[in-house]
Amino acid sequence: MSISRIVIIGAGQAGANAAIELRRRGYEGAITLIGDEAHPPYERPPLSKDALVNPAGAKLFLYPEDHYAQQNIDLRLGVRATAIDTAAHRVTLSDGETLPYGKLLLTTGAQARRLAQLDDLGDRVHRLRTLEDAEHIRAQLRPGSRALLVGAGVIGLELASSLTDLGLETVVIDPAPRAMLRNSPEILSRFLQKTHEARGVVFHFGTGVEAARREGDHLFVTLGDGTELEGDVLIYGIGVAPDDALAKTAGLHTVRGAIVVNERCVTSDPDIYAAGDAVLQVHTEGHHQRIETWENANLQSTAAICDMLGQEAPESGVSWFWTDQCGLNVQFAGEMSAPRWILRGALEEPPFLLFGLNDEGAVIAAITVNQGRDMRPAKSLIAKGAKIDPAVLTDPATKVRDLAKEI
Ligand SMILES: Cc1cc2nc3c(=O)[nH]c(=O)nc-3n(C[C@H](O)[C@H](O)[C@H](O)COP(=O)(O)OP(=O)(O)OC[C@H]3O[C@@H](n4cnc5c(N)ncnc54)[C@H](O)[C@@H]3O)c2cc1C
Repeated sequence: MSISRIVIIGAGQAGANAAIELRRRGYEGAITLIGDEAHPPYERPPLSKDALVNPAGAKLFLYPEDHYAQQNIDLRLGVRATAIDTAAHRVTLSDGETLPYGKLLLTTGAQARRLAQLDDLGDRVHRLRTLEDAEHIRAQLRPGSRALLVGAGVIGLELASSLTDLGLETVVIDPAPRAMLRNSPEILSRFLQKTHEARGVVFHFGTGVEAARREGDHLFVTLGDGTELEGDVLIYGIGVAPDDALAKTAGLHTVRGAIVVNERCVTSDPDIYAAGDAVLQVHTEGHHQRIETWENANLQSTAAICDMLGQEAPESGVSWFWTDQCGLNVQFAGEMSAPRWILRGALEEPPFLLFGLNDEGAVIAAITVNQGRDMRPAKSLIAKGAKIDPAVLTDPATKVRDLAKEI
C-alpha cells in the first residue's frame, strides 16, 4: 500500500535525516517536515564547540536550505504542531492549518532540564540546547571574566574546554563524585579532569548549588560544602527532558516523559513512529533504553522510515558517540559500565585506547582518545564479543585492525 503523505514533526537531527532518507530510498509521495525553530535543521554537537570558539568556521546546518525544496520536501519552519487527531489522521499546526498524514514521525527531541533557582537570576544564566542559546552565551563571553558551569557531563566539559580556549576563568560544579559519571568509566573521567585542570579549570565535585544570588552583573553561588563562588556568567547542563508533550496529548503511550516505541520505532499507534532524543525504546527481550546521541537520532529515524516503506533497516550495531574537548577527540563504543578497563598506550601521552571487558574477559566497550582510526576495528571486536589476552590487546606492536581481522 502506498503512503500518500508522510508528516515529520520536529526538524532537528532525526527529522531532517528521515526526510532526506525517505527520498534517498525512493519514496515519491508528499513529505512535510515541521519545525518550531526559525532555522533550517542544524546539528547540535557544534553548539558547545565551534559555535562558541570559531563561529565563522562552524558547520552547523545538515543541508543547505534549498536542498529540501530540491528534494521536494515541504519544510515548514517557525511553526509548531499543536495537536494530532489520530482517528482522522490529521495534525494541527500553530498557524491554524491542519495537515492529513498517512504515516507520522515524531522527532520532537528533548529540552535542557531547568533549575528555577538559577533561572531566577536572569539573563546571565544559560542552558545550551539551541542555536539561540549558543548565540546568547557567546555574546557574554569576555576573556578574563569568570564562568561558573553547573554540571560536569559531556556538555559541561565541552563548555569548560571552549570557555578556557576563549580566555575565561572556568569553574565546574557537580554533586557527582566525578565528571561524566553516567557515560564514562572512572579512568577516563579522571584523565579528562586532569587535562582540564592543567588548563586552569577548577572542579568542585560532590557538592551542588545551595544558594545563588545576583548583584548587578555579578553572580554569587554558595555550594553545599560552604564554598562561595563568584561569576560573570553561569551555564548549567544537568541533563535533558524528552519532549513527549504532543504525543501525550494525542493519547500515545509515554513513560517518564518519553515516547514509547518498539524495536521498529512504532509508537502505540501503528501509523505513528517516533525517533531520537524523545524516545524510550522497548526491546522484545524486555530491556529498554533512551539514547541521547547524534548517531542514535540518525539510526532510529532511518529505522522508522524503512519500516514505513517496508524496507530492511540497516543494522544499528554497537552504540557510539564522541566528544571533542581540550584538543582531544574522544570516541566511545559499547557498554561504558564495563567492570574492567585496560589501557593501550599511556594516559600521559595521547593517543591511547581503553578496552572495557566483562567478567568473562570479552571486549564489550572501547574508548579511543585521538585514535579514531581504531574505532571501527574496536567496534568489530565488541560486536564479536572477542576474548583476547589483555597482554595482546594492550600491546602497541599489534594493530587493533589485525586483531579484528583474526577474530
Ligand atoms: C550542545 C550539545 C552538544 C552535543 N554534542 C554531541 C556530541 O558531541 N556527540 C553526540 O553524539 N551527541 C551530541 N549531542 C546530542 C545530539 O545533538 C542529540 O542527541 C540530537 O540532536 C537528537 O536529535 P533529535 O532530532 O532527536 O532532537 P533535536 O535535535 O532536539 O530536534 C528536535 C526538534 O524538534 C522541535 N520540536 C519539538 N516539538 C515540536 C513541535 N510540537 N512542533 C514542531 N517542532 C517541534 C525542536 O524544537 C527541535 O528543533 C549534543 C547536544 C547538544 C545540545
